[in-house]
Amino acid sequence: MAVSKLNHRLFRLRGYTTISSIAFIALRSLSSSSSSDHGIDLKPATWVDHNQKGLPPLEQKPNSDKNVQWVFLGCPGVGKGTYASRLSNLLGVPHIATGDLVREELSSSGPLASQLADIVNQGKLVSDEIIIKLLSKRLETSAAKGETGFILDGFPRTIRQAEILDGVTDIDLVINLKLREEALLAKCLGRRICSECGGNYNVASIDIKGEDGSPNLYMAPLLPPPHCASKLITRSDDTEEVVKKRLRIYNEMSQPLEEFYRRRGKLLEFELPGGIPESWPKLLQALNLEDHDEQSAAA
Ligand SMILES: [Zn+2]
Repeated sequence: MAVSKLNHRLFRLRGYTTISSIAFIALRSLSSSSSSDHGIDLKPATWVDHNQKGLPPLEQKPNSDKNVQWVFLGCPGVGKGTYASRLSNLLGVPHIATGDLVREELSSSGPLASQLADIVNQGKLVSDEIIIKLLSKRLETSAAKGETGFILDGFPRTIRQAEILDGVTDIDLVINLKLREEALLAKCLGRRICSECGGNYNVASIDIKGEDGSPNLYMAPLLPPPHCASKLITRSDDTEEVVKKRLRIYNEMSQPLEEFYRRRGKLLEFELPGGIPESWPKLLQALNLEDHDEQSAAA
């Protein structure tokens, strides 16, 4: 089982930065990005490296669970949005998915909406600058509501983005979700959308016998309710060829980013052992959050 455990103090004891300062510094680092590739020198003079102070005992940091600053990585279809969202609910921190930010901005009358519409209509990629602007705006909104911490989903995607982020805040932990390719492919090909209500379902029933010492992998389908069942459609780009190409591109792009965080000792590799019922408890275990779940279940 490729589940590794990081020293959990590493990521529970940081997160002192407020998100309003992140938003502020992110914008600063962007506006000076022409003169600095990394933005790391833009840390304010009062910046404290908590690592150098030695880690205080866990008890001295109340609510340390509340302000995790985590990033979720994982290939398309692995379900990282689902796990990021569940964890953000459990920990009471905002789940910030950059895909959602782009969609929200597009459907708004915000300052970037028309610029974004042009980019998307031309099939171009949304630039780092725009993503950072949207992210900063979202963090400011969070800060205004008194929220601390975050779970980022969909950002960073590149080393450049990771470096910008690194220059403005401490990322405590990067959780890299993985799933065996065979299961991933079946899962992507089983995706269905209700053409009426937009509900997302999955008709794939995955039951892979373990080989070479790997355990069996079972993932139950997520079947639609009767009123959606006759209206299911498949996304036109969920074909085997396109899914495989998407995975290949993702793997090429993500490897340097994974290495970036691995070198910093922040990467937690987590191979999903199955569907949500099998994976969720194991993920909490890997994150040392089992007690947390019991508490919230008992509450
Ligand atoms: Zn429906």
